[in-house]
Amino acid sequence: MTSVFTRIVRGEIPAFKLYEDDLTLSFLDINPAARGHALVIAKPELPGLLDLPPELVSAVALTTQRVARAIVNALKPDGFNVIQNNGAAAGQVVFHYHVHIIPRWEGDRSVKLWRPGTASADDLRAVADEIRAHMQE
Ligand code: AMP
Repeated sequence: MTSVFTRIVRGEIPAFKLYEDDLTLSFLDINPAARGHALVIAKPELPGLLDLPPELVSAVALTTQRVARAIVNALKPDGFNVIQNNGAAAGQVVFHYHVHIIPRWEGDRSVKLWRPGTASADDLRAVADEIRAHMQE
């Protein structure tokens, strides 16, 4: 199964490319949440963060910073979001690892990822214990 992003890497379908190196590629999102909404992908077709070897995690992070800096310098947004969806439940639609960089302007209301909830200290302690127990895996 070839992802739409692999087809962009291969040059089989067009994209508005921003940056490319051996391991990563950045281009504009075709359905932008804001002007300048960009994607950074790992070139190998791996679905999510947990599938990436360390060198790809690093490479995508460095390209994300590079592209975000260019967006900030070019478009002068008030801020930007870096968002990365893993799994359909988290909103992932293209199962080829990618990071969203979304420029933000005061009052644009274009992205709101969660509603703040509440938790007791006991709840927080319990879930922290559960997660820490798996930290070496
Ligand atoms: P996600 O929900 O994190 O999987 O996001 C996938 C993103 O890929 C969406 O924001 C789409 O608009 C974007 N997308 C899908 N196909 C293309 C394409 N051919 N070129 C650019 N962006 C695309």
